[in-house]
Amino acid sequence: MGKVEMWKGVDQLKTPQQPRELQLSDWFKPRRRPHVKTVTDWFAPIVWEGTYHKSVLEDYYEKKNITVGLVVFALGRYLDNYLEKFLSSAEKYFMAGHKSIFYIMVDNSSKLLWIEVTPLHTFKVFGVQGRERWQDLSMMRMKIIGEHIVSHIQHEVDFLFCMDVDQVFENYFGVETLGESVAQLHAWFYKKSASDFNYERQPASTAFIPFNMGDFYYHAAIFGGTPLQVLKLTQACDKGMLQDKTNGIEAVWREESHLNKYFFLNKPTKILSPEYCWDNSLKDYSDIKAVKISWQNRLHDLI
Ligand code: UDP
Ligand code: MN
Repeated sequence: MGKVEMWKGVDQLKTPQQPRELQLSDWFKPRRRPHVKTVTDWFAPIVWEGTYHKSVLEDYYEKKNITVGLVVFALGRYLDNYLEKFLSSAEKYFMAGHKSIFYIMVDNSSKLLWIEVTPLHTFKVFGVQGRERWQDLSMMRMKIIGEHIVSHIQHEVDFLFCMDVDQVFENYFGVETLGESVAQLHAWFYKKSASDFNYERQPASTAFIPFNMGDFYYHAAIFGGTPLQVLKLTQACDKGMLQDKTNGIEAVWREESHLNKYFFLNKPTKILSPEYCWDNSLKDYSDIKAVKISWQNRLHDLI
């Protein structure tokens, strides 16, 4: 009896010097959203508005003094049409209160506008060469992101997100989104069954997923994780796209098909609800408590 208490005493002494790692149950309250799926079959949280304990998370990540990266590409007309709105809204809502570095990939830096940046935010601008086809431009991002992670990003941030530029932040996109490997539920498909997902269905493609297999349809407009995990994802997608190319194949939704294949084989550790990348043209808002990011009109549809 006396011995047990002595050990207990030692444990308690240690606690102040070694802050406890965050447990899922400390911050995640899945029962607060009883009408939506909040946990995957492999027990990863699906983060919906209302399921997370914000102050617990804020407290934890503030003590860790984290830096979060955000990679975005804006080339050609996307620079003129979307970048300013994306950046100024991100400046307000992305990881508010925490350090962040925005990696902005452009083909014409003379067009960059001045945006007021808070002291916690750093903007780094890089030149990227455009491509003839927008499809190639969209796909090449995987390779370039990987190269930047290897050469510098891995030393600069604790977590990294990669996003399309044709969207706007409408609400706080905070530390509840951080994880080892983070995927985004596609707003069009979150209520559908696996056979209705937009996966690549040609067996010859490296992105192939057979009918009735697969967990979710993920949106490539937002993905993230630790730099190492994002590196693995981008390298796998790039390798798959290269192999398809040598076989004369282009997957139906390009890098998104490959990202879905990757997350089918390597399950994400956290999933973001469609609230995190919502399509305002959808009629059914019944599950949407807060739109964090919304899509803009697609340029190649407008023209
Ligand atoms: N992109 C770009 N310039 C282009 C085409 C694409 O900068 O001419 C980048 C931009 O970040 C864009 C992303 O690649 O958000 C993916 O392309 P898009 O958004 O058109 O694909 P979709 O979301 O329609 O599949
Ligand atoms: Mn897009």
